[in-house]
Amino acid sequence: MTSSRIPGFYKLSIDERRKQLAEHLGLDAAAAKLLAEPMLDEETANHMVENVVGVYGLPLGIGLNFQVNGKDYLVPMCVEEPSVVAAASNAAKMIRASGGFTAEADDPIMISQIQLCDVRDTVHAKKRIEAHASEIIVACDQAYPSLVKRGGGTRGIEVRILEEESTHRPGMLVVHLHVDVRDAMGANLVNTLAEAVADRLAELADGTVGLRILSNLADRRCVRVKARIALADLATDRHDGEKVRDGIVSASRFAELDPYRAATHNKGIMNGIDAVVLATGNDWRGVEAGAHAFASTKGAHGGYGPLCTWRVAKDGALEGKIELPMAVGTVGGTLKVHPGARLALKMIGTERASDLGMVMASVGMASNLAALRAMASDGIQRGHMSMHARTVALGVGATGEQVDLIAAELAESGDVRAERALAILQRLRASGGFSGIQA
Ligand code: NAD
Repeated sequence: MTSSRIPGFYKLSIDERRKQLAEHLGLDAAAAKLLAEPMLDEETANHMVENVVGVYGLPLGIGLNFQVNGKDYLVPMCVEEPSVVAAASNAAKMIRASGGFTAEADDPIMISQIQLCDVRDTVHAKKRIEAHASEIIVACDQAYPSLVKRGGGTRGIEVRILEEESTHRPGMLVVHLHVDVRDAMGANLVNTLAEAVADRLAELADGTVGLRILSNLADRRCVRVKARIALADLATDRHDGEKVRDGIVSASRFAELDPYRAATHNKGIMNGIDAVVLATGNDWRGVEAGAHAFASTKGAHGGYGPLCTWRVAKDGALEGKIELPMAVGTVGGTLKVHPGARLALKMIGTERASDLGMVMASVGMASNLAALRAMASDGIQRGHMSMHARTVALGVGATGEQVDLIAAELAESGDVRAERALAILQRLRASGGFSGIQA
């Protein structure tokens, strides 16, 4: 890939954008053709889930300007909300000017949980299982030799007492298998291992087997990203860089102190992350569950807090960091069957799940920066409103050029109601003075 900078991309027609994208990514003819077609056919959809009656569409946009650890990425983003793609691309451009995103990923360790019930002596059971850790690890690796061959496998176990036994009832333990799942999301994979060793663990604990399933709190598989932005790049038409920086730092502190704010702060981060998770065919419910469970201890007072925080750097620039679990894969799950997901992964251009996770977290950070910058300067409504105006225009039946004309007039007036949009549409139709009229 040449560069993730494609100036004026937003001004091009959809066809021209596809052409530019194919050129930048060096896509072959078949892949380029797929972009212009429905990416999922009914037959495939029918094999993916149950009771299929159709295939649902969503816009696929491209996040521009991303540079992570010195490498450029054009990022496929699948999302229904206006301004997510533009905002992330804008923020990525600012960060790019100061060296781009610096990211690191943990080894891809997923946690598989085996619940053990009816345990009469929990302390003794814990010790007994710990003493047999090597035997359990060997049994896990024997249950999935292909994973071991790929360099993955079970790395360790952890035993946690959840409920001590009492005179009234026996206690409860949970055993965690720490499994390196390489480039898979790993849910099915680690579930298989949990099932393979559950009976032996129950025997060692002198208890009974309960649930055997992964934990979506994948906190051993985190991604950490850092970035900085020079003051000059933060400045807006109306506010200097220092004011915007201080507003962003104050907004970060607000989220650290208040879970009500942190929830919205993190939602903005997930706007970007989910869009890439969805485009690449990954399990966004799993990523969401992991992100919010992880955030539940990140607040200044130990409760729910922000995944991404911002501070003033020593030299006065703005610097930020984000950390969250990233249980995503480049193989397995739906990826092999959904042609759109395969294409999206091709665009990102990596076979390593850890690279994908680092790109996703960078997009989340960019989304957060864009939202905080807008709120810390002109207020988010101004930018949001112009995008919302387009949705309102579409909602009253505008098509073609009508959409931009109506959206511009609505945004200009500050009155973005459907009634007003309809009145403008009727006026345009009556005047018939432009080529986009479809009425
Ligand atoms: P999977 O079952 O397809 O397993 C991954 C497969 O890829 C394995 O067969 C493995 O051998 C193979 N593979 C090939 N190359 C590999 C490589 N380089 N690294 C690792 N494996 C490689 O998929 P999975 O990732 O185990 O599970 C993901 C699916 O499970 C998703 O569809 C998810 O929605 C679903 N799921 C999620 C949950 C949850 O999150 N709570 C629960 C159950 C299932």
